[in-house]
Amino acid sequence: MKTPHFAIVGAGTAGLATAILLARAGNQVTLFEQVDELSPMGAGLLLQPAGLAVFEHLGVLESALKLGARVTGLEGQLADKRLLVNSHYREAGSNLYGLGIHRATLCHVLTQKLAEYSSHVTWRMSHSIDQIQESTHAVRLFGTYQQQKFDEHFDAVLVANGARSQLRPKAWVKVDQAYPWGAAWSIVPECPNLNPEILHQFYDRSKIMMGVLPTGAIPTAPQQRLSSVFWSLPTPQLGTFLKDESAKQQWLKQVGDRWPEVAEWLKQLLTNEQNQPQWLSAQYRDVVMSQFGQGRIGVIGDAAHAMSPQLGQGANMALLDAWAFSQSLQAATHHQQTDWPMLWQHYHQHRRSSTQFYQFLSRLLTPLYQSDHWWAGGIRDLTFPWMYQIPYFRKEMAITISGLKTGLFQQLDYQQVAHYAGSNHTLKNTNASVPEYE
Ligand SMILES: Cc1cc2nc3c(=O)[nH]c(=O)nc-3n(C[C@H](O)[C@H](O)[C@H](O)COP(=O)(O)OP(=O)(O)OC[C@H]3O[C@@H](n4cnc5c(N)ncnc54)[C@H](O)[C@@H]3O)c2cc1C
Repeated sequence: MKTPHFAIVGAGTAGLATAILLARAGNQVTLFEQVDELSPMGAGLLLQPAGLAVFEHLGVLESALKLGARVTGLEGQLADKRLLVNSHYREAGSNLYGLGIHRATLCHVLTQKLAEYSSHVTWRMSHSIDQIQESTHAVRLFGTYQQQKFDEHFDAVLVANGARSQLRPKAWVKVDQAYPWGAAWSIVPECPNLNPEILHQFYDRSKIMMGVLPTGAIPTAPQQRLSSVFWSLPTPQLGTFLKDESAKQQWLKQVGDRWPEVAEWLKQLLTNEQNQPQWLSAQYRDVVMSQFGQGRIGVIGDAAHAMSPQLGQGANMALLDAWAFSQSLQAATHHQQTDWPMLWQHYHQHRRSSTQFYQFLSRLLTPLYQSDHWWAGGIRDLTFPWMYQIPYFRKEMAITISGLKTGLFQQLDYQQVAHYAGSNHTLKNTNASVPEYE
């Protein structure tokens, strides 16, 4: 019997994590990635406990903890210094925490792990996939490599090529649109004025929002701790953010009038002639699909459910997709024959309601932080502090941020995800990562 051969399009978080799990289970995997070299760009991100459970399952948690920044909670301050958001992972489970991580570090820990299964993995860098065709017994990928067209057959394909994917089957796409707001961001030396274990956010109405995320270190400079700074803006304004000296002074005044201690730090960063922060912009998409897979084609990660990063769930969802796909494949494969309808039934059971829950919440909450509605910030400022007074809501909020929700009243079990029978990294080594459920 032939070993199943999977193609994965895109070597981002979703693609790499899935490749590890498929290769570890003995499948052959070919990874197609359009860029020449993996050097991930982008602001640092916060891996939630759900994503860290997948990290534990993958066997990469310990290496990620060495470079990443442990985050115990999220605090969001209003201009009058009141805490609007005050959510800590311990409310969801006493040993839960998040991990602020640089994208280069995330990529590093995943590719290092994948290298352990190199006999099962074929890399096709600089290969861009343009089209996928499915037949009864195979899928055929059509692509471009060094301006030459190529095509190749596989047993199945996973589309993991991010929010702007043109490969997701059109018939499954319900929504695919750009968000009107995005963020300017920069990665800078860690902020000494703020608690390094907290994701700090600052809001004024729904028009001003800034975030400072502990981001840990990168593999090539493990001693230098970093922070990611986010400044929310409508997308047409992203290109001109801090474009000249007067824009810088105006921005510092805007921040300084509200949060002087943070403005002081930003001022030092901006006046350091030798090491000027590089500001880049991030734009978001909203992608909703009616299904994530059928037959020999599946769509995972941002390609399947891109959303605004307001809830900090995208990479976690990509990791959960990888985990759910490998679980579903295992459940639907007998004697190396895969029952594809059963696989997708299993996968949708794992992923549909959780994805719907976070997408719904993201659409509900994002305009309260990033919009031109005059009422949005006011409603938020009235309701949130009231909710945080009630222990039930406080706990639900923490479970939601942890990425563990699978519906309004259901949640994932961290241990169920983290467990890997073949693992020799014992739970006692990663003691702090094992939650205790009350
Ligand atoms: C500002 C910002 C902050 C964020 N913060 C957080 C956070 O705190 N927590 C969190 O969990 N998430 C966060 N996210 C979301 C997170 O970054 C994404 O959800 C996650 O990176 C998605 O991973 P992916 O593997 O699906 O896609 P990507 O990381 O986009 O990877 C897709 C890969 O596919 C390749 N590719 C594309 N097209 C082709 C093709 N045709 N052929 C071959 N290769 C192709 C690309 O080069 C890329 O390498 C944030 C996003 C933004 C923009």
